[in-house]
Amino acid sequence: MEASGYDLLLKGGRVICPASGIDGQRDVAVKDGRIAAVEATILPSSARQVIDVSGKLVLPGMIDTHGHVYQYVTGRFGLPPDMVGVHSGVTTVVDQGGPSCMTLPGFRKFIVEPSKTRVLAFLSAYLVGGLEGHFYPNLYSPEGVDVEASVRSARANKDIVRGIKGHAEIGGFARWGIKVMELAAEISRRSDLPLYVHFGQLWGLPESGVNGEDADTILERVIPLLRPGDVLAHPFTRHPGAFINEKGEVHHVIRAAMDAGLKIDVGHGSHFSYRVAKLALPAGVIPYTLGADMHGYNTEIPEVPVPAGTPEEHHDDENHPFKGQARFSLTQAMTSMMTLGLSLEEVVPMVTSHPAEMLGRSDDLGSLAAGRIADVSVLHDDRGRFVLRDNEDMRITTERLLRPAFCLRAGERFEADAPILPAAIAA
Ligand SMILES: [Zn+2]
Repeated sequence: MEASGYDLLLKGGRVICPASGIDGQRDVAVKDGRIAAVEATILPSSARQVIDVSGKLVLPGMIDTHGHVYQYVTGRFGLPPDMVGVHSGVTTVVDQGGPSCMTLPGFRKFIVEPSKTRVLAFLSAYLVGGLEGHFYPNLYSPEGVDVEASVRSARANKDIVRGIKGHAEIGGFARWGIKVMELAAEISRRSDLPLYVHFGQLWGLPESGVNGEDADTILERVIPLLRPGDVLAHPFTRHPGAFINEKGEVHHVIRAAMDAGLKIDVGHGSHFSYRVAKLALPAGVIPYTLGADMHGYNTEIPEVPVPAGTPEEHHDDENHPFKGQARFSLTQAMTSMMTLGLSLEEVVPMVTSHPAEMLGRSDDLGSLAAGRIADVSVLHDDRGRFVLRDNEDMRITTERLLRPAFCLRAGERFEADAPILPAAIAA
């Protein structure tokens, strides 16, 4: 290679790329926005710019499978895409059910196109998309679903739409039974895209018992509607109607569902509880992907005021589905998994190769193989004693903390300087 053949060289980091079977010290060269080479040693003189990343982790650009970035359209949910994306070290964010068949054109024009972050979506099964359903559950009845229109929209926009989003939770089931989930599954089948199913109480009352509905039966009734590759979300939620029944046991159908090819996404956010995770993980509930599920309710956003006229909220109420706010990031969710006993080597695929597969994009995302688009995440791997807390305000101590340093998105560098990133809190 002649001098200055490469645009950029990331030198001396620990490269972990599960898709190409690499875990070790490597140099990564970038040229024209693509990965040019990954080698044990690449001469610094071969690149115009060299960044010393020794002591850091160098991963394929991280993919957050569960974001909420339809800013200004989805009430308080939508965060600025680049704040949860490239400025948090994440190169691809998947909006889970923000846009719908009716609002996808706006999502493309005002979110996908102007963002530096690659933004994809799981299309909402509901006509209105992901609005503030806990305020207005009646928008989410079976009458609010148009299978035909949603299938057409998904098929015509596959560059953005990589799945369908639906909710299986007791508030909806007690009102209308399983009908909405059947429609969501039909949209998913007919558009040949995976269905991502939210579990755990969300839309508040009515609770178990109303209209003969029992939260603990939702999972076993929904699973038969699903196909291999579909996604069960929020395994570690503290809300009823999910993976852990009211007796505190892991639901008996989970193991069989995983064996049948259903995938589990953490969907960390407001739904994550260390108490529940400590029950579920040892019982074999191992997530396949790790969405951060950050939105305007659960994320402390110093710089973004709530738009005037947004409905009033009382989210300090003990029963509010999104109780509690904190600074957060996908890397914090990784740390949280490692603190629960998963290894770094198990967690990295959950934000790289596995989500690429979930998106049907293994051929271009989630790998550092030469020739790929240069989406790269570089993380600090800090040792010490740090405090983490969940939405039940349970605190745990960790000795290893991952933090984003910067990322490359198609070779362009973005610092991890988002105001929502948590500070490292020493224990
Ligand atoms: Zn969510």
